[in-house]
Amino acid sequence: MTYDFEKEIFECTQCGKCCQGYGGTYVTKKDIQNIAEYIKTDPSSFVENYCEISGGKPLLAQQENGYCIFWDIHCLIHPVKPKMCKAWPFINSVLCDTNNWKIMGSVCPGIKTDVKDDLIIKIIKKKIIE
Ligand code: SF4
Ligand code: SF4
Repeated sequence: MTYDFEKEIFECTQCGKCCQGYGGTYVTKKDIQNIAEYIKTDPSSFVENYCEISGGKPLLAQQENGYCIFWDIHCLIHPVKPKMCKAWPFINSVLCDTNNWKIMGSVCPGIKTDVKDDLIIKIIKKKIIE
């Protein structure tokens, strides 16, 4: 069995906070194709009915309660969720500045902030390559 290094800096509590509000979830062309196929629609209908446009780019629409349109106790499109959702919290901006990890930790209870910067960098680099 391989040791799961990821758990040293992150363990998801399944709280769902990352599916609510802040920032918005952008979808790539590939995300649009995958999600449209998964929910049995076509890409343009998907963008029209499930996205909002911000800065010329589509992002997933939100429900009135601020949650992502695909959130209902859990992610309804988990197998094809957008690249952004799959990557969280192992993202490039933390490699630029580990303070971003601490800021992200203030909204994501799964992120462990009492860890050394070099460990954060090492694990995130590994996860981004995988
Ligand atoms: S906010 Fe963090 S801990 Fe909560 S579901 Fe999202 S990734 Fe998991
Ligand atoms: S697509 Fe799924 S994981 Fe991503 S924000 Fe929406 S509900 Fe959350």
